[in-house]
Amino acid sequence: TKFSDLALSPKVLKAVEAAGYHTPTPIQAGAIPPALEGRDVLGIAQTGTGKTASFTLPMIHLLARGRARARMPRSLVLCPTRELAAQVAENFDTYAANVKLTKALLIGGVSFKEQDALIDRGVDVLIATPGRLLDHFERGKLLLTGVQIMVVDEADRMLDMGFIPDIERIFSLTPFTRQTMFYSATMAPEIERITNMFLSNPARIEV
Ligand code: AMP
Repeated sequence: TKFSDLALSPKVLKAVEAAGYHTPTPIQAGAIPPALEGRDVLGIAQTGTGKTASFTLPMIHLLARGRARARMPRSLVLCPTRELAAQVAENFDTYAANVKLTKALLIGGVSFKEQDALIDRGVDVLIATPGRLLDHFERGKLLLTGVQIMVVDEADRMLDMGFIPDIERIFSLTPFTRQTMFYSATMAPEIERITNMFLSNPARIEV
């Protein structure tokens, strides 16, 4: 498979090319086609497999084709740590270089002020750690009812860090009709339970 076989838009393909990628990795070849069709995805993949692009590229493709409504975020990516969230945000900037999409990185350890300003202005994509995202929600700053695409990255680390109740809460704040892409390196029983509850007939890709 080549990237150009994956039905990604020319603007997204151009960014992939600029990143110097030639061939999709197995998780990318497996996850991108069903994601572009709007299907839920369950990716069982370690870090280093190219999983970030496997959800970021179809997300950008789909959001760039759609339309923003009411300044509400249309996509949400949840990461277990600040460092991982920052990496995803960096990847997003690279792959979204040729489209007009805005993002906010919502992580702890920095003041609310700057994050509030971004949310108020309206962004397409939130990249967040669960605790800080819920802090914004509790402060009445954020509605997730416009979320069309939700990504959970490294769910097994979320489990280790005790974030599963937060993840369930955040799922419950988003519409049932959302598309969900869910990634974990392992499928512990608790992870299996969450995926059964919140994913709908997912394409399962194990690499
Ligand atoms: P990840 O597993 O998402 O953390 O990605 C691991 C590394 O692989 C990152 O440095 C990416 O920039 C790189 N990468 C992702 N997809 C590809 C690809 N198709 N070809 C070459 N490198 C890639």
